[in-house]
Amino acid sequence: MIEVRNICKSYGNLQVLRDVCIDIGKNEIITIVGPSGAGKTTLLQIAGSLDRPDSGTVCYDGQDLARLNDRRLSEFRNRNIGFVFQFHQLLPEFTAVENAAMPALIAGTAKKKAMARAEELLAHLGLGDRLRHKPSEMSGGERQRTAIARALVNSPQVVFADEPTGSLDSANRDEIRSLIADLRRDFGQTFVIVTHDPSMNGIADRVINMADGRIIPPENHDD
Ligand code: ADP
Repeated sequence: MIEVRNICKSYGNLQVLRDVCIDIGKNEIITIVGPSGAGKTTLLQIAGSLDRPDSGTVCYDGQDLARLNDRRLSEFRNRNIGFVFQFHQLLPEFTAVENAAMPALIAGTAKKKAMARAEELLAHLGLGDRLRHKPSEMSGGERQRTAIARALVNSPQVVFADEPTGSLDSANRDEIRSLIADLRRDFGQTFVIVTHDPSMNGIADRVINMADGRIIPPENHDD
């Protein structure tokens, strides 16, 4: 579904990604692990169209993102890609349902329909009684579940998550991890997750190890 090929990226003299390739299949959960500074977030941002590589290609079902101008790329991102960050990045003055509906409103969905979809998702994620709460009135886990609803509202092909459990306690980490596994099982949702949380690898189909801007090939266990 998504082909990331031969990505190189530098910031000044610092080479952050060196010839990185990944294939992301439909319905997969992939985790990306490795030491801080390995290039994980940069890779996630390039694969998720938030940043452009110096060289290499990112294709979604054969569509090369480099061929889209910035406006088309924003539209493409809005419709096809969801994001969850370590710090939920919800808008403080809006309620859970307004926050979750935001990408659908940006996509031009009628307000009533966008709000209904956001409510349905929030209820599915166990937040049916938190719809009109603002972020400051919710727990860390509830805020992160709201951020997941926002990522899912346009039924994206893929959700990229950067340390989604990084700011949570262990009970909330467990909850978010099982939620991600459930969303894949129930809806076939694809996830690519940068994480330092070893238990997240337990729900992954593939764990990609990065160090020093490269993917470390899995060890050959055939022998
Ligand atoms: P990781 O997610 O594995 O910790 P990152 O992709 O965040 O790694 O960063 C890789 C390296 O690139 C780090 O040394 C970081 O300081 C550097 N870096 C990331 N983004 C920028 C940027 N916008 N400008 C300059 N350097 C950056």
